[in-house]
Amino acid sequence: MKIVLLEHPRSIAPDRCNDIANTPLSSCLISGYVAGMLKSRGHDIEIIEGYLDRLSYAEIEDRIRTLKPDILGIHIVYHWQQDIALFNFLEKMKQLGQTSFITAYGFYATISPQAIMNNCAAIDSVIVGEAEGPFAELAEAINAKNSIFSVPGIAVRDVSCNSQFKKQTPIRDIDMVPFPVRTEALYRLPEVNILGSRGCYGRCTFCYVNAYHGKGIPWRGRSPENIEAEIKAIIAESGKRDFYFTDPNFFGPGQSGQERALRIAVLLKPMQIRFGIEGRVNDIHDETIAALVDAGLRHILIGLESGRDESLKRMNKMTTVAQNENALRILRKHGIEPNVGFIMFEPDATLQDIRINFEFLKRNDLLKNLAVTANVLYHHQIVLEGTEAFESLKREERLQLQSPGYEGSAGFRSPEVAVLSDIMRQVTNIIFSRMANIWSGRIIEPPGIQRRCSDINCIVVELFEYHLSALEAGKPFDAKQIALMVQAAEEEIDSSMHYSSTIL
Ligand code: SF4
Repeated sequence: MKIVLLEHPRSIAPDRCNDIANTPLSSCLISGYVAGMLKSRGHDIEIIEGYLDRLSYAEIEDRIRTLKPDILGIHIVYHWQQDIALFNFLEKMKQLGQTSFITAYGFYATISPQAIMNNCAAIDSVIVGEAEGPFAELAEAINAKNSIFSVPGIAVRDVSCNSQFKKQTPIRDIDMVPFPVRTEALYRLPEVNILGSRGCYGRCTFCYVNAYHGKGIPWRGRSPENIEAEIKAIIAESGKRDFYFTDPNFFGPGQSGQERALRIAVLLKPMQIRFGIEGRVNDIHDETIAALVDAGLRHILIGLESGRDESLKRMNKMTTVAQNENALRILRKHGIEPNVGFIMFEPDATLQDIRINFEFLKRNDLLKNLAVTANVLYHHQIVLEGTEAFESLKREERLQLQSPGYEGSAGFRSPEVAVLSDIMRQVTNIIFSRMANIWSGRIIEPPGIQRRCSDINCIVVELFEYHLSALEAGKPFDAKQIALMVQAAEEEIDSSMHYSSTIL
């Protein structure tokens, strides 16, 4: 069958430019894995990179008109508001007869199949969970003109338009999954994305990684030899030697997880590659990091999330502040300055939590780089459907839903925390909008930018501390005062950028 997979164009609302959690990084290979599996079953596959290739819907329409696929698969990525443009496009494709069957897949599709079907009549089915297995079975059922109602993992509408599906059993041995197909657009990225494992053994309340892979499904790692084989194939195909493991958690649990990581290091070392990973702080062990660095590890994202044990417990992070500090120490000892995940503003945070977080960040030298500072002094907890936080806030009747209901928010318990969060959100959005082109690599860093960033970093840290201290002292702030303070901060940031550029 001719099957087209579409990565649709994505837009980001200006006030969400600092939010990073609309879909986990591992999503970037979902279409590739679907394509790999379908190819292995003899289907003719095309991936349209609407997002990375910056295609318009008119350009995508031209491609689909030429390809006339039997099935059009859409990797639907949540992007903060109902995607009317995408849904209108799919309706049009159906009406024009450019395809007879449309199926959606991905994290958003898995967690909100009913909402997606309600919003787009052109979508015939939604894949719930890992996509490659159910997609292959769906294609076989359609090809054989069999009913798709009983295909596990495929949600379809019943007579009342309610989505119904039989649960799929995700593949346990992921060495059995064909390697993903990588498009030219994916190869254009600075690093080749690779997935060495699926799921996470953690259970953080704000995370929905496991809701996608299936509740109760354990972390599954590929064998080091299977990963080695894929990397060798990529080097042979593209010559690239920079990789990023998009696994939500590179390390498996316990001692066996460490031993597997050590074995990966042994196999990667002779290949002379450079790579990045993401992991939990409790898995950062001196011997393993030493071996991985020796094998080419150059960067890592670790989820610190908080500088206070009580907050870590509320998030069910199953880690401690001592483990956070130990992980920072080990990584720095081996020459790695980590990227960090940090949730400064969780719904139940008190001013005391915020102060302890701030002191933790200062004590651990995490407020010296503007790109890091702007994140750690701002990030609030994003509450997406499929997470434990979404469910518990709903039970407590604190959840406020945003359209289309996939994302919620909860008012802060502390009005003072709400004020500080509001100020920091607005100020950091100003920074992100000024720095967007540089931080995204769209333009080359202008001369003197490091000095400017350093000046602005000082402004933001001082601003945070000033307002935190004022709130601790009981100073009230109303909306007008907040607006004036944000305006003053914007002027200071802009004048600092100008001043520094003239003296350098
Ligand atoms: S450790 Fe990371 S991937 Fe695992 S549950 Fe927590 S946030 Fe999710």
